[in-house]
Amino acid sequence: MVAITGDHRGAPLADSVAETLSELAAIGQSPRGGVTRVAWSDDLFRAYAWIGERMHELGLDVEIDAAGNLVGRWNVGSGKAVAIGSHLDTVPSGGQLDGAFGVVGALHAVSLLRAEGFTPSRPLWVIAFMDEEGTRFNTALFGSHAFTGGAVSDFADRVDTAGTTLRDAMARAGHDVDCTRDAKRIDQLAAFLEMHIEQGPLLEAEDLDIGVVTSIVGLRGYRVHLHGEANHAGTTPMRLRRDALAGAARIALQLREFARSRSDVTANVGKIAVEPAGANVVPGLADFTIDVRAASPAAVEELAQFVEGTVAEIAGEEQLEFDLATTFSLDPLELDSDMVDAIERAAVAEGARWRRMPSGAGHDAMLVGRHVPTGMIFVPSRGGISHSPEEYTSPAQLELGTRVLAAALRDLLRQGGDACTLLE
Ligand SMILES: [Zn+2]
Repeated sequence: MVAITGDHRGAPLADSVAETLSELAAIGQSPRGGVTRVAWSDDLFRAYAWIGERMHELGLDVEIDAAGNLVGRWNVGSGKAVAIGSHLDTVPSGGQLDGAFGVVGALHAVSLLRAEGFTPSRPLWVIAFMDEEGTRFNTALFGSHAFTGGAVSDFADRVDTAGTTLRDAMARAGHDVDCTRDAKRIDQLAAFLEMHIEQGPLLEAEDLDIGVVTSIVGLRGYRVHLHGEANHAGTTPMRLRRDALAGAARIALQLREFARSRSDVTANVGKIAVEPAGANVVPGLADFTIDVRAASPAAVEELAQFVEGTVAEIAGEEQLEFDLATTFSLDPLELDSDMVDAIERAAVAEGARWRRMPSGAGHDAMLVGRHVPTGMIFVPSRGGISHSPEEYTSPAQLELGTRVLAAALRDLLRQGGDACTLLE
């Protein structure tokens, strides 16, 4: 545990959620536009200190745990805690809202409860998980993984683009990767609620305020190497070429056709490099990624088989050798039905227009939700845009989401209510 930097005097929240978010967004302003606060960076810890001061002002006990999660605890009532929150790290040149809204909205929800004199029946924690995005070390969901007991020290030797290992980056921030097991505190939680921007176009298209999330997609990530033969682009007859890029292109298109033929899966080839990369040389090597997602375990399994079959088949037809490695695997998660009901009641109580919907993006909730009852609240994303400075949700929609979160907390944490039957 690391004491948080800053003056510890506390600092008040702005009047509105949108104002607090824009104040926070001043930390990590990127010269290329947007906000850059990648895992273990100085800017991320500056954001922790800034949010930590506001947590102090709300009367929370503030700490950064062994895995770099920022935790503010309202130690009240008895039994296991209800946690709310999301993450403060961003992708490079990201927006103000992805992750940050879940943390800032959580603080404003606590502030609402405080202001009305509400006393929770059990402890209430606000958490900002470390490295949700995984953008620096390819270690997405790092903090929630450690919090739920995952062995994140296995990632110690991963390097960022500057060649810094995760171990060194953590050491620079005062953390020891070999101590991250101390961050396991899932046993102290009764439930988790994460609020987030939708990052998709559905709510806006249907003119709705709130998404009550029912499930989070499963995903598989792959790294593929196709080996052909580099040769002269002019003298090698077309039928004799072993063109690795042509093979990669056929695989990308075949995956796209498969995903387009159904409504429940997505497929993406997002990164590709070829060698030797000469304009007049047949590509001898193609190195690319595949990301496939689906909402049900059966569909994820079907996708995995399709990926493996397609890579093998096209490599064979193009006379290429191939390596296919799984880099990431997360099963889909059905969120807790009692939590879904509680969020729905909260949306009704606040007069929000809402719908149930799945999440197509991964979130910390998908790890925490494997251990304790977990729910998610979405607010609309204008144009469905995220991971961009263009992220936008109206101030009124941010306030409404926050009020729905507060209403759900009143429901889960009321004294003498039936919350204890809902939460073990
Ligand atoms: Zn996020």
